[in-house]
Amino acid sequence: MAATLLDGAAVAREVYSQLGQRVQTLVAAGVRPGLAAIQVGNHAASTIYIRRKVKACAETGVYSEIHQLESDCPESTLLATIDKLNHHRGIHGILLQLPLPQHFDAGRIMQSIAVEKDVDGFNWQNLGALVAGRPRFTPCTPSGIIALLERYEVRIEGRNAVVVGRSTEVGKPMALMLIARSATVSVCNSKTRDLRQFTSIADILVVAAGRPLLVTADMIKPGAAVVDVGINRLPDGRVCGDVDFAGASQVASLLSPVPGGVGPMTVAMVIANTVSAAEHHAQARAA
Ligand code: NAP
Repeated sequence: MAATLLDGAAVAREVYSQLGQRVQTLVAAGVRPGLAAIQVGNHAASTIYIRRKVKACAETGVYSEIHQLESDCPESTLLATIDKLNHHRGIHGILLQLPLPQHFDAGRIMQSIAVEKDVDGFNWQNLGALVAGRPRFTPCTPSGIIALLERYEVRIEGRNAVVVGRSTEVGKPMALMLIARSATVSVCNSKTRDLRQFTSIADILVVAAGRPLLVTADMIKPGAAVVDVGINRLPDGRVCGDVDFAGASQVASLLSPVPGGVGPMTVAMVIANTVSAAEHHAQARAA
């Protein structure tokens, strides 16, 4: 039987509808949530991702603005832009679109974004809070995956979860969020000797390697929930994930498509974090 789709696009629409109500409450209290996106250079995929986030803001009533910087701008220009937004009362979330051009140290620059406006959750204070089991803003892709699994009532506690990939943006925080929900978690990387040995025991398999068709049907436990994070462009221009979708759908019970799975949920979580940031701001103002 074919797997049920983990339909991120549909779940994201539900999230927007709930967020829209929270935005209305905030606006009635005199606070319109605001998101500022910073793009350095004009990486084509980044432009698409920023447009999606701006569109999602419009759908939910969140104010948004884009700060476009030249790819060869000095670091001081980027830091000055961030500093201005850190102090801007109408901006509650700051998004620095990655990747940055090579000459920037993205990890370090992320630290200059005010912790309370770090809606990407990449500031080390927010990542540390996640490690400590006291999450504040958490990275949007793994948050979106948790929201997707919860929406489809996938039990996490007590299950074997395997995360393929250990990046700071996806794999590591994903593992931490699954650990926090009492899954038994394995994290694989490019040096893992026998990937199949791990993937085949996964009740929940999250693949975030950026390697087209890395995971095939024979590597999946029958009945598993499989989340494909990868976005890969094939030589013929088609986009595919890290999982062989056609094969996996015959083995898994739940499977996220690419596109339309994790991507829309990531965007929804950026907006959710912005609304939460605005709510904190409104509470602090009222206190
Ligand atoms: P990344 O920083 O390049 O990390 C990739 C990870 O995968 C690394 O930890 C790497 O191991 C591991 N890996 C690579 N080949 C492997 C293999 N053969 N077996 C096991 N592990 C392997 O990428 P990322 O930022 O985490 O993103 C991963 C993918 O998700 C990309 O395709 C990206 O475009 C996509 N993505 C999608 C969304 C979305 O919203 N849908 C959001 C973010 C990212 P090492 O550490 O050993 O190198």
